[in-house]
Amino acid sequence: MQIPSILSNEFLFNHLLLGFSIAFIIVFLSYKVKFLTLSGSVATFFLAGTIFSLGGIKWSVPILTFFILSSILSKLRKKKNAEIELFFEKSGVRDYFQVLANGGIGGVLVIWNFISPNELFYLIYLSSLAAVCADTWATEIGTWKRTATYNVLNFKPIEQGVSGGISVIGTFGALLGSLAICFSGIFWNSLPITQYFLLITFSGIFGSFFDSFLGATVQAQSKCNICSKITERDIHCGKETNYHSGLRWINNDMVNFLSSASGALVIILLIKILN
Ligand SMILES: [Zn+2]
Repeated sequence: MQIPSILSNEFLFNHLLLGFSIAFIIVFLSYKVKFLTLSGSVATFFLAGTIFSLGGIKWSVPILTFFILSSILSKLRKKKNAEIELFFEKSGVRDYFQVLANGGIGGVLVIWNFISPNELFYLIYLSSLAAVCADTWATEIGTWKRTATYNVLNFKPIEQGVSGGISVIGTFGALLGSLAICFSGIFWNSLPITQYFLLITFSGIFGSFFDSFLGATVQAQSKCNICSKITERDIHCGKETNYHSGLRWINNDMVNFLSSASGALVIILLIKILN
């Protein structure tokens, strides 16, 4: 493994300076408009700074597309349907666990690609982002208004907002989220265009369903002692909730991380099968 010689010179220093300066401006504005908590801002500064400096515009556009569009979507949905928020462990404001669960794989890939460039890293990066974007948009668009929601395991109707639930509108949201990431990387794509769209979109939607699957099986769920609702939250109706089901260490962030990893794994497998 040969570390590029530019690591030692002014060129890299300038890239780092530029990358982290842009990251600082974006994080500062995001904190001001409450897209990020304070801890989320610190994590985003390091993650975005690394991606901007080492990946350049090619790697920056997809993560910015995900971050900016998803944050706006969360804000709009909150205005429209604040009640559903009571089910979610996290509100629309991102903290550091959530930032790392969504973008941590991207951070590792950009460093890896910088040390040993390979087009495959970029496709894996796009797929892991497509999975988190599909999952985020499935939730945001799927809970936009009241809609029939089904358990992903047995298709029995369940309450909207409960982990493991899927809906027609939510699945449409997952498709849109995946497509947004496809378009964000389209100028730097190295595959035939149809193959590119199919691979990234499929990986994204797969990741989103995998997220619902984990939500319906192993994700920790709590029960409110006041209203008896099943929720991801520690606090509900102003009181502490009790453990209900699932594995205690698999919280919402862990599920998001696994979903993003599944998007990355699926495209690796698909490319292996196709070649
Ligand atoms: Zn309650």
